[in-house]
Amino acid sequence: MKKSLRTSLAALAALAAAVMLPTLALAQTHAAHEHGKVAVDIAVEREQLTIGIDTPLDNLLGFERAPRSAAEKQAADAAVARLRAADGWLRIDPQAGCQLQAVTLESGALGLGGAPAEGEHADLEGSVTYRCTDATRAAWIDVGLADAFKRVKVLQVQVAGPQGQAKQTLSGKNRRVVLAK
Ligand SMILES: [Zn+2]
Repeated sequence: MKKSLRTSLAALAALAAAVMLPTLALAQTHAAHEHGKVAVDIAVEREQLTIGIDTPLDNLLGFERAPRSAAEKQAADAAVARLRAADGWLRIDPQAGCQLQAVTLESGALGLGGAPAEGEHADLEGSVTYRCTDATRAAWIDVGLADAFKRVKVLQVQVAGPQGQAKQTLSGKNRRVVLAK
């Protein structure tokens, strides 16, 4: 009796660790600030797909501080609106049956919350959540940030899912993240 309890506790602990993994992987990745590069963290769970981005503000705006002129304010508003319309720059394999649920953006310099901008290099962090019939059925995700923002040159992608973790680097015309099968 005692032994079987211990065994099931061990199994529970292993299960908890497996469930925690995608969240931990997301939290641990904090990309270096490098102009032209965006860190993309994708977490695949059965009914949820989360795409996190971490980008220098320069990639989106060409400047990295609070907007000063009316033109800069307009550019910042347009960039934020484009990111919020995530279906415009993200495409998910229809096999997974995913629907956009929430987009959260944080950038101290743009007054979107998050850490206040320090020094001359400000960032924007975003998180896009999809509800899916079965996210593990997605064979690919197209991340079109380089089309939406011409200063974006390289996507450093990290995927965490049921199959473990994988890294991919997308550059040039390549938008497609291939998910482990
Ligand atoms: Zn910078």
